[in-house]
Amino acid sequence: MEINDQDKELMSIAEKLIKKRKSDLSTVGSALMTTNGEIYTGVNIEQIHSSPCSMCAEYAAIGKMHSKADQEIETIVAVTSEGQILPPCGKCREMIRQFGNPYVILKKENGPFKVRLNDLIPYWEM
Ligand SMILES: [Zn+2]
Repeated sequence: MEINDQDKELMSIAEKLIKKRKSDLSTVGSALMTTNGEIYTGVNIEQIHSSPCSMCAEYAAIGKMHSKADQEIETIVAVTSEGQILPPCGKCREMIRQFGNPYVILKKENGPFKVRLNDLIPYWEM
């Protein structure tokens, strides 16, 4: 599905955030919008001595959302400090799924587009 102006704004928010917060520990920013129109953001945190314990940017944004008692994501995106859109990893897909079936913004050679999370993890409930 084609992205709209709101999706472009989310991408821009995520990219601006990580460009501002980039460090040895953080290279990815995420922005999500809930179904009630609130926007939450986060950056990843690398765990240098134990990579599997690192926290993805999507997790950080979801943590903020959950702390505010918002429960349903409408759209989510993750962008690197280089401006590349990243698909959510498997761990994030499972986490995002607990908060609805949102649009996930992705990118192919011909530009950004969005799909429902269920398209990324079909049969997730099995
Ligand atoms: Zn992840």
